[in-house]
Amino acid sequence: EQDVMEYKKSLAIRVSGFDVPRPVKTFEDCGFSTQLMHAISKQGYEKPTSIQCQALPIILSGRDIIGIAKTGSGKTAAFVLPMIVHIMDQPELQKEEGPIGVICAPTRELAHQIYLETKKFAKSHGIRVSAVYGGMSKLDQFKELKAGCEIVVATPGRLIDMLKMKALTMSRVTYLVLDEADRMFDLGFEPQIRSIVGQIRPDRQTLLFSATMPRKVEKLAREILSDPVRVTVGEVG
Ligand code: ADP
Ligand code: MG
Repeated sequence: EQDVMEYKKSLAIRVSGFDVPRPVKTFEDCGFSTQLMHAISKQGYEKPTSIQCQALPIILSGRDIIGIAKTGSGKTAAFVLPMIVHIMDQPELQKEEGPIGVICAPTRELAHQIYLETKKFAKSHGIRVSAVYGGMSKLDQFKELKAGCEIVVATPGRLIDMLKMKALTMSRVTYLVLDEADRMFDLGFEPQIRSIVGQIRPDRQTLLFSATMPRKVEKLAREILSDPVRVTVGEVG
């Protein structure tokens, strides 16, 4: 019986917010393009995970979201798939514009993982993804950003460096993801995150994902998200 209790706990889903779109049961329910559906099945994803069922329709409807779920629940695809749809809906980038989507993650390793997963879905639509984190030469990164891209996956520190070097502007960014927000705070990135958010237009769509919601992260979420839907999966936060 204890096991059953534990199982139910781990599956608990809580959703709060106004006019929340209904969850999907399948990827077909999301209305994705044929290319994107191909990319999804190429990944071996047969059906959306719990957080994806809840978050995909919310994000696809343009709403801000706070997603709280433990590691391994499939948060990356939950924010990357709608990002591809969002970018395809935008007018094409002109030279020296861009990116449209920015994803911030706490560490080089996490940013790299997200970069790889994003590229798999972006490729099918000819969307360019740039990685902006330590371990690569700043000059190479500068040149790559100057060449243009629709999506940037970054650690906050290196993104600030690139912004200072004017390798990119944030004027076209309309889709911002803060992944593992609690860890970014633990690593002391709050000032960098605030500076990055401050350079992005206020009518953007903002997505915040975190395994836990300490008071400081809660406060930031209140300040930078508009009318968000909160989705919690499992006994977290
Ligand atoms: P999180 O960010 O929540 O820790 P990830 O996005 O890294 O989780 O996903 C964890 C693993 O699950 C990855 O290997 C990913 O490829 C896989 N995955 C994600 N979505 C699905 C799905 N719908 N079906 C099967 N596997 C999935
Ligand atoms: Mg993740």
